Amino acid sequence: MMRLDRILTEMGAGSRQEVKKLIRKGQVSVDGEIIKKPEVKVEEKTARIRCLGISYRYEPYVYYMLHKPAGVVSATEDSKERTVLELLENPARKDLFPVGRLDKDTEGLLLLTNDGELAHRLLSPKKHVDKTYEAVISGIVTEEDAAAFARGVDIGDDTLTLPAVLEILKTDPEQNCSEISITIQEGRYHQIKRMFEAVGKRVVYLKRIRMGTLKLDPELPKGASRRLTEEEIDALK
Ligand code: URA
Repeated sequence: MMRLDRILTEMGAGSRQEVKKLIRKGQVSVDGEIIKKPEVKVEEKTARIRCLGISYRYEPYVYYMLHKPAGVVSATEDSKERTVLELLENPARKDLFPVGRLDKDTEGLLLLTNDGELAHRLLSPKKHVDKTYEAVISGIVTEEDAAAFARGVDIGDDTLTLPAVLEILKTDPEQNCSEISITIQEGRYHQIKRMFEAVGKRVVYLKRIRMGTLKLDPELPKGASRRLTEEEIDALK
């Protein structure tokens, strides 16, 4: 059982104070009955709550896929920069956070949720969840680089990176650049940029396309988001 004002606040109906006011004014019903006391406890799993004509069903956890554009930071709050959370239109919850970080200039798949346990599992260094990126590299990437990445490279940390799979998609000697895909099992700070620096090259564009079983929806435009499907959530768990 949960307080009515808390459920509506968590579901994004307004601030706690706004929600309390709406309840006291008789704007909220539970299973068809108007409730005027914000502190009333209701069974959150089954209650059909309506507030200002909108129906709410409590879900403890929600999951969004965001196609992150460059120029926004992977944080919940920032005094200067736009955050990934500001890109969600009408989020169902107020306690969402990004699962891990992409650099400000990195694009692609970012999972946003309020499910701390799932986030922990996906980010735990012990779990080795694969993350696949596509990138444009300044310089000609070689099979020797792929072999070095497969062995693990020294990027200035205490340990070498875990084996990564580097696939060379295209090389352009005229422009002196390469298109590659890379799958890493960790999420160290600036990891891919530092791995290429370690072999004397520079990442000029980076986009994440997969995290574990979750793939960036090719239909999702840059900056847009959608809720995960039941199948996507089940596969991640
Ligand atoms: N590696 C990086 O260097 N940057 C990212 O944003 C993700 C992985």
